[in-house]
Amino acid sequence: MFKLIHYRNRCIGCNACVEIAYQRWRMSKKDGKAVLLGAIEKKESIKFSLTRTNSPKMNKR
Ligand code: SF4
Repeated sequence: MFKLIHYRNRCIGCNACVEIAYQRWRMSKKDGKAVLLGAIEKKESIKFSLTRTNSPKMNKR
């Protein structure tokens, strides 16, 4: 099991995450920051976490 935490307020919009793992990340057209697909927004509204149970299905190649 893995857990991925995204501190969205720290995103600089470099697009590296999308280039590396397009199946998990997208860039927001609203604010230019990354969005972690399938993540659940936590209380403080800047922290998103993704675990295996709520992750989107991986594309098989
Ligand atoms: S675009 Fe992705 S890799 Fe770049 S700072 Fe934001 S979350 Fe990190």
